[in-house]
Amino acid sequence: MPVPDLTLNSGQSIPQLGFGVFKIDPAETADAVAEALKVGYRHIDTAEMYGNEAEVGEAVRASGLDRGEVFITSKLNNGYHRPDDARRAFDGSLEALGSDYVDLFLIHWPLPTLYDGDFVSTWQTLEEFYRDGRARSIGLSNFQVSHVRRVVNESEVVPAVNQIEVHPYLCNEEVRAASAEFGILTEAWSPLAKGRVLKDPTIGAIASRIRRTPAQVVLRWHIQRGDIVFPKSTTPARMKENFEIFDFELEAEDVAAISALDRGEAGRTGPNPDVFARVPR
Ligand code: NDP
Repeated sequence: MPVPDLTLNSGQSIPQLGFGVFKIDPAETADAVAEALKVGYRHIDTAEMYGNEAEVGEAVRASGLDRGEVFITSKLNNGYHRPDDARRAFDGSLEALGSDYVDLFLIHWPLPTLYDGDFVSTWQTLEEFYRDGRARSIGLSNFQVSHVRRVVNESEVVPAVNQIEVHPYLCNEEVRAASAEFGILTEAWSPLAKGRVLKDPTIGAIASRIRRTPAQVVLRWHIQRGDIVFPKSTTPARMKENFEIFDFELEAEDVAAISALDRGEAGRTGPNPDVFARVPR
């Protein structure tokens, strides 16, 4: 079954299911991405912070696929929010990827306690990359409701996506809703909560009743809520399992039962974006 495409507010199509490469060792990334492309994934989520953009680019080139057949996202690292730094970092990402454009480029974290809280001028710098065509779409990551509103109110280009932590233990509904209000699609990072939701008894019961795995049930829940996902796995059998989620549907009551597992802030696996302020270099 083909992966559905969603349409971003830039007019560009994005495969709703992709492959994430956070925490994949650079030495293993080209093999992992090659395997994912073999399974059928056509959307790769990387970042300067992950240190493996070059290996992603290498695997896409070696695959024999045209560059235009694979949707690649990268992100601006936290040390480069000032406009001149952002311009240099963006050039560096393109160079590492070995491509003259990236499909989607995001501000990785808003860092509201750094840079005088000025993520708007950073966003306006990404608008330059969008206008000159080197970023086909631009977006946000880890932006909270107030941050999303500021970007929309104080800039010209509405972000295409907001990539935030979302899974059954952190449904993140307010941020999803604030994004939807402006036509911004939500990308759900750590869609499996890094594996933590896979032993949940509610999810397990649904999975055994419909003869699917817990990971397939959780990924299907995201798809039916309309979010974009890119689970990470370096295990070929799991890459395949995570890809096989388009030949079944969850009943509305199963979707609701999974959404009811939401633990709010207590469900986070990663940092709270309001206070996260780590600048790696
Ligand atoms: P995920 O929720 O995708 O979980 C990955 C973990 O689940 C790995 O340990 C993997 O193990 C395991 N796993 C994957 N599939 C299965 C399966 N079918 N059955 C059992 N276990 C499974 O977490 P990530 O944190 O990796 O998030 C996914 C992507 O989201 C990242 O790669 C990155 O692209 C993005 N992300 C973005 C962030 C941001 O700030 N913008 C922050 C964090 C993530 P194994 O590999 O051993 O198979």
